[in-house]
Amino acid sequence: MNQEVLLLKCGELVLKGLNRARFEDRLLSIVRRRLSHLGEYEVYAIQSTLYVEPKNGAPVEEALTVCRKIFGVVAICRAISCPKDMDSICQAAVEYLKDTMEHTGTFRCQAKRSDKRFPLTSPEIARQVGGALLSAYPRLKVKMDGAQTQVHIEVRDKAAFVYADRIHGAGGMPTGTNGKAMLLLSGGIDSPVAGYMMAKRGLYLEGVHFFSYPYTSEEAKEKTLHLARILASYCGPIKVHVVPFTEIQDQIRKNCQEDLFTVLMRRFMMRIAQRVARRQDCGALITGESLGQVASQTMEAIGVTNAVCELPVLRPAIGMDKEEIVLIARQIGTFETSILPYEDCCTVFTPRHPQTKPKLPKVLEEEQKLDVEGLIQKALEGVEQVICKAEG
Ligand code: ATP
Ligand code: MG
Repeated sequence: MNQEVLLLKCGELVLKGLNRARFEDRLLSIVRRRLSHLGEYEVYAIQSTLYVEPKNGAPVEEALTVCRKIFGVVAICRAISCPKDMDSICQAAVEYLKDTMEHTGTFRCQAKRSDKRFPLTSPEIARQVGGALLSAYPRLKVKMDGAQTQVHIEVRDKAAFVYADRIHGAGGMPTGTNGKAMLLLSGGIDSPVAGYMMAKRGLYLEGVHFFSYPYTSEEAKEKTLHLARILASYCGPIKVHVVPFTEIQDQIRKNCQEDLFTVLMRRFMMRIAQRVARRQDCGALITGESLGQVASQTMEAIGVTNAVCELPVLRPAIGMDKEEIVLIARQIGTFETSILPYEDCCTVFTPRHPQTKPKLPKVLEEEQKLDVEGLIQKALEGVEQVICKAEG
């Protein structure tokens, strides 16, 4: 019986042997889990393709929406399965692709035959299906180069599959295949994008957010948690550690040289994030820093900030322009939330003339005026944990 299915094409073709099996197993369990709330689906892998078969009327469209956000899937084919004989294949193509064919001008058929016992070669299959489509839709033209619509036929072990145009998947590697990292998540544009980029490389995320009530409002915190929920729709639930930061900022302001406020503050952030990261078994920190974007992100300032870090700090946005970051923010759906006008603790404490070339000895001297360890301990004692899950 013909049935609509999703074929998920896995990425990272360079992976071999055990790694590939691990990658596929991981992806299978993620796909199953993420689809479970929608209905019943049979999900299995054959030859680097994951099959998603809806059962008992489970929806295809919603499953597609979920699968587009799963890392490790490079492309998705929404296909019809049919028996492995040319009559059935041609008929399935003509009927299933009706809508597409009526809205296109040129097409091209491409066939793939992984079942080598099938009597026709791939070019022969493509030619026959192309002929059937031309008879059914005589207005159409075949175009070998630059056709508007690509019709695919795959003759696999289990059945034949017909679909038009592959849909882009999220790419990257399945969540969890590369461990876990701690994202310093502000309410801004850059850090959610940085989190997304690293999650795409197979990392589980946890988050740490520095919260300076009453300098920053409850809404500013909510905004950050909302951003974490958006990220969670790609990489699964994110535990966000909300760290009270007001006292640290007050002490810096009261005791230290103004042009070093930001860099002093950022060293506290890194130290605290690192303690939380170690406690939670995270192998790295992630920030949304971009070289030269603001005074605290000059090479010198990053150097001074980085001096307190022992864990690797992943900065995927370091070489990106703001426009490039914004483009990703729009694509992943965080931009609209990021630009909501709630203040961030960094902006509240921006000095009038921040030092763009801070020197470590001077910064260390300023820190002598503070009870660094005591302030860190106190902040850690006040941490609130919030689990952020994808909405809907
Ligand atoms: P973003 O858009 O991510 O806020 P930004 O361009 O505003 O970045 P900064 O404010 O200098 O840059 O912050 C640099 C990085 O430090 C952020 O990308 C984020 O990773 C981290 N950070 C800044 N503020 C906070 C905060 N309140 N809580 C957690 N992390 C923060
Ligand atoms: Mg910011």
